[in-house]
Amino acid sequence: MSPTSPPGRTTLVKENLPMVAVIRLPLPFALKEIKIYLIAGNHGYGLLDTGPNTEAARKALEAGLAQLGVPFEAISTIFISHYHSDHAGLAGWVKKRSGAKILMDAQDSRDLAKFMKGSPAGFIDPHFLGQHGMSQERIDIIGQALIGLKDLIVPFAADELVQDGQDIYLGSLGLSCFRTPGHTPGHTCLYYEPDNILFCGDHLLKEITPTVSAGSKIDHPNPLGAYLDSLRRTAVLNPRLALTAHGPDIADPGQRVDEIVHHHDKRKGIIKFILADRPKTCQEITSALFLDEISLLEKMIAFNECYAHLIDMEMEGSVRRIEEQHLVKFCLRDN
Ligand SMILES: [Zn+2]
Repeated sequence: MSPTSPPGRTTLVKENLPMVAVIRLPLPFALKEIKIYLIAGNHGYGLLDTGPNTEAARKALEAGLAQLGVPFEAISTIFISHYHSDHAGLAGWVKKRSGAKILMDAQDSRDLAKFMKGSPAGFIDPHFLGQHGMSQERIDIIGQALIGLKDLIVPFAADELVQDGQDIYLGSLGLSCFRTPGHTPGHTCLYYEPDNILFCGDHLLKEITPTVSAGSKIDHPNPLGAYLDSLRRTAVLNPRLALTAHGPDIADPGQRVDEIVHHHDKRKGIIKFILADRPKTCQEITSALFLDEISLLEKMIAFNECYAHLIDMEMEGSVRRIEEQHLVKFCLRDN
């Protein structure tokens, strides 16, 4: 399906899953579009993810439901794959219009509450960023740029916290929760066992590698390590199809898992190369990794992902951290 499809456009997923429709909603990010899934059922419809709280996404969701002839009140269950605004943003709004209950992972529910309670730019920690080599000027600019981000989520509390392996119903589909920490600490996919299909949220994407963030605001000791473990579990599950939240679906998820693992191995190799001459801060390494012009939000994501690599490399013993003039730097272990 082309990424330029009109907002709100709906399609039925596959001949095997005729009760599942995709609704495409626009995003105010470089990623352009999210696919959310509406699943029919005699006792109410289920919705997997919801889009961000923007007027364009709300209109597109209204249009998509109208096209399918499904009123908001027909939705009885909303499942949130993870707490990011493009997935959780409209859950509170849909709940208000439908009375649906919201299901999500406990850890992501806690992280969402923390994010919503913090200051407007609540998920950056100036002290942490400064320690890791980011200039005060850039910290201020990023802080300003992130102020509107919280508005992309309508506040809500989950009605039910799900666990790995738990069976749930979305519409008429019986699905099991397949917890895949990494992209967020509580990211959860849904597995449809009869047809070996994984609704994979942002755990696997076909055209880009899902971001993995670490930092003082991410409540996990080793997000990249967790992600690589989740990828291994996905390879064992061996779904024949992964229905993604962004971009094309994945017809060979096992191969995509291999590609993403390889990408992270390669990235670690490049970080070792960058560190070969002297210790460097996370900011210096990030700047060396991403020479191209990228947006402020992407710079922050790049920094958080670089830090996730460094933590995983520390844990596997290839780098260690030192302190130099109030800065945290990383160096190769054999130095
Ligand atoms: Zn997403």
